[in-house]
Amino acid sequence: MGTERIKCLIIGSGPAGYTAAIYTSRANLKPVLYEGFQSGGQLVATSEIENFPGYPEGTTGFALMDDLRRQALRFGTDIRPGIATGCDLSRSPYGITIDGEKHIETETLIICTGSSAKYLGLPDESKYSGRGVSTCATCDGFFYRGKSVAVVGGGDSACQEALYLAGLAEKVYLIVRKDHLRASGIMRDRVMNHPLVEVLFNTNTLGLFGDDGVRGVRLVRFMGELREEKFEIGVSGLFLAIGHSPNSGIFRDYLDLDEGGYIRTVLGTTRTSLPGVFAAGDVADPSYRQAVTAAGSGCIAGIEAERYCSVHDFSV
Ligand code: NDP
Repeated sequence: MGTERIKCLIIGSGPAGYTAAIYTSRANLKPVLYEGFQSGGQLVATSEIENFPGYPEGTTGFALMDDLRRQALRFGTDIRPGIATGCDLSRSPYGITIDGEKHIETETLIICTGSSAKYLGLPDESKYSGRGVSTCATCDGFFYRGKSVAVVGGGDSACQEALYLAGLAEKVYLIVRKDHLRASGIMRDRVMNHPLVEVLFNTNTLGLFGDDGVRGVRLVRFMGELREEKFEIGVSGLFLAIGHSPNSGIFRDYLDLDEGGYIRTVLGTTRTSLPGVFAAGDVADPSYRQAVTAAGSGCIAGIEAERYCSVHDFSV
């Protein structure tokens, strides 16, 4: 397959990618956007979004991403299915391989590859994958109607998952390793006051059991202390909501990453360690990770790509 030469390549279709697409399309960079594993990114699997400005009644992740996608299309973004599987950023124009076979050379690259859900690292997670272990309540919660489930984590995601599941399940356990929830005040209050949610503080997950799918979780309270206590709860599903890892692996040899694997950018910009390569959204954001901050950084990346092109004479 031949090499396609373009001015602007955007990888990823979350709020950062689509916002960068809107700005670069309007600046006539004729961007090509590859959607990645999940068209619309992580947000399509999010139930309600109450804190994205402009939606006083809230919206759903799917509706928000559909709006952004249609807005990018309206200005002519070339949106394609496909995953960036390799790259050569040793020289400009930069080379990106899509799906292991298609080669693109681009003058500017906007990386919006987001992040992926973390797992606990227990062997049982893979054993029961698709049979009781999930990282997405909105995707899989339906299968647990009227049953008991557990959610692991103490942040906003875990609270959101627990509350979503409480609308379907008979009972929801929230397994929190510390003695407090890290989540924002409003989410904490909702979880603590929900009659179907029981929060198990100071509790870690040891494993799962069940012959035909998950039947329960083995837990330990006050792990490593004199008062350590092992116990089990009967549940049909375990939902993991313990954070995310940035999807930066293919760029590791070319760009500066921090110790967590997030792409380092120049403070206040989306500029990476290479000229003409920009990173926006969760892949470069260990701190905020909000849809609106991702969209904001996508906007900055789009403007920076346009400025970069305007001072270089590209023949594309
Ligand atoms: P966070 O990093 O905020 O929280 C992760 C949680 O998982 C923490 O409670 C952490 O525990 C726990 N955890 C991590 N590793 C383990 C482990 N091995 N075993 C047990 N527990 C573990 O991630 P979130 O995904 O919740 O949130 C990410 C960002 O997205 C945040 O900025 C959040 O505010 C935002 N967000 C906002 C939402 C909203 O506003 N509606 C919804 C969802 C996310 P510990 O506290 O002990 O470290």
